[in-house]
Amino acid sequence: MSTKKDIRALTKEQLRDFFVANGDKAFRGNQVYEWLWQKSAHSFDVMTNLSKETREMLVHNFVINHIKVDVMQRSSDGTIKNAVRLHDDLVVESVLIPTSTRTTACVSSQVGCSLDCRFCATARLKRMRNLNPDEIYDQVVAIDNESRLYFDRPLSNIVFMGMGEPLMNYNNVLKAIDKITSPEGLGMSPKRIIVSTSGVPKMIKKMADDNVKFKLAVSLHSAVDEIRTSIMPFNATFSLTDLREALQYWYEKTKSRITYEYVVWKGINDTQKDADALVAFCRFAPSKVNLIEYNPIDDGTFQQAAQKAISMYTETLERNNIVVTVRRSRGKDIDAACGQLANKS
Ligand code: SAH
Repeated sequence: MSTKKDIRALTKEQLRDFFVANGDKAFRGNQVYEWLWQKSAHSFDVMTNLSKETREMLVHNFVINHIKVDVMQRSSDGTIKNAVRLHDDLVVESVLIPTSTRTTACVSSQVGCSLDCRFCATARLKRMRNLNPDEIYDQVVAIDNESRLYFDRPLSNIVFMGMGEPLMNYNNVLKAIDKITSPEGLGMSPKRIIVSTSGVPKMIKKMADDNVKFKLAVSLHSAVDEIRTSIMPFNATFSLTDLREALQYWYEKTKSRITYEYVVWKGINDTQKDADALVAFCRFAPSKVNLIEYNPIDDGTFQQAAQKAISMYTETLERNNIVVTVRRSRGKDIDAACGQLANKS
């Protein structure tokens, strides 16, 4: 591994300062910045508007760490999963999900995950480290390229629902989103980005204070503390009361509706009482519910609830005027669906 500094850790201002300190013009920094972000250059050689000496000087001082798509798998439903190798040889996964009108990128924010959701394959991997902003950005660029290549259209949406807990790597996620939405990067609208969290109250409030423009999804799975703690043990620390309060704060500040992700499991949260608790939770802030299909990852401790239970949930929610969508899994045959990302390949 190189000890030279990763040039993409520098802000535009720092790049400009670097050139000035080296007896060059500040605008040289703008040129390099454009190569690094807008044009996703992976080497200094391609920066053809710089002199040979300048390029050599950059090579001497910096590296451009970039991801490499090691393995690309395609599902029978069109979903694509990338196994992405990082500069230090760790691997994360990202997924391209096509529909008739959209291409969504599902990206990772950490290598592994520090949380312990019992039903999630990623939770079984130790959290190795946070991804840097450029590593998150590169996943998006890779999927944008694949979308253009295989579907003849650019990427349209991004969800932070890959490996890791984005709010436990908040600063880097925010920096990556800045680049993704900036005209100097991909220029995407923040309205097309969803950050999904298992629910870290303090960070949800921080996001509200930071006045972020992307959307928020919360993996709720149960609105009953004892049940939620049994399937998502960190709920013992971040209780539903704290979560609820943070979400109210979020809505007051942003006026942005919250999406709750929710899996109904047999014998765990499939009763009328569970659905009623969800309705009560939804009342605290404008929200909608996505009922997501369970993707089995284990011995059968968790099993998708019967269709009857799903219908009971949708009827209960609709009766209470809460928007609910039932989501089918995508990319299951290549272990690319929610909760299945575990670097199997
Ligand atoms: N840490 C973030 C984002 C990653 S998980 C979060 O918790 O939101 C993305 C979504 O997949 C979450 O809603 C998560 O609860 C869900 N999920 C995890 N394991 C799953 C599984 N086996 N089947 C279906 N959904 C799962």
